[in-house]
Amino acid sequence: MIPQFTLPSNDKKHIEFSSPNIQMAIDYADLVADMECEIATGYLDKLNISFDINDKNTSSATWTAQDRIAALLWVFYNTNEEPFFSTSYKCQCGETHHVECDWGDLLEEFSQGNLNQTQETRLTDSIVYKVTPFYGWAEQHLEMMRLDLTEEQEKGILADIKVMRVLLQIEFKGADNSTFESRIENAVKMKSTLSLAEFKVLTEKVNEYNTLNPHGLNSIVSELGEVTLLTPPIDCANKEKEAGEVEPTRLRLHFRGNDYLPKVN
Ligand SMILES: [Zn+2]
Repeated sequence: MIPQFTLPSNDKKHIEFSSPNIQMAIDYADLVADMECEIATGYLDKLNISFDINDKNTSSATWTAQDRIAALLWVFYNTNEEPFFSTSYKCQCGETHHVECDWGDLLEEFSQGNLNQTQETRLTDSIVYKVTPFYGWAEQHLEMMRLDLTEEQEKGILADIKVMRVLLQIEFKGADNSTFESRIENAVKMKSTLSLAEFKVLTEKVNEYNTLNPHGLNSIVSELGEVTLLTPPIDCANKEKEAGEVEPTRLRLHFRGNDYLPKVN
């Protein structure tokens, strides 16, 4: 039994997950590594007892990126007998330490927020907007854009991803914001409407919103929308150093959703 999960972005939203079965592990054995956000949506929806295929609002695509990471880890942690991982890192003391981390320790640093969008703000005479959280559907869209990255086109696509990373967190007044497809269309249209100076203001507002609304596990979202988790502080294991002499280290783990899917061992 997986204990009830509360969305980090909304303490009134409780999710009951069923346990992954063997068939799912078989289905996920042959995954496309670059489509993990989309795969995560399908996986979380399959396990979510209240997911209704006819109601998009029940999909994990409508949860925030942090909600989804926490949910994947929650299921993983509660269905694995040994939820540990080993890694090594170069410590400030100069040595390389080998450590074993418990996913439960990461889940303990979980923060509960109650996210709302911001008040309506006027950008220009004709543009009024709100900042919204970074949702799963937006994360999925950026993942699709990253799939197009090839060496020749890299600069243009990278710039486009950075722009969309901001615009997908904006709801423009007067536009159709009822579905995530229309939100994506609005963002694409605004690329031809906004000046660079206006875009800079929106970027600052979105970054400020994300800083002021931490929720879920300790993590950093890059300009390209990729998430890195931070472990709890790890103490230096060098016996020659006095306690407190070397600052504890928070390791950065590039989050790969596929690592937390069920596997047949
Ligand atoms: Zn050390």
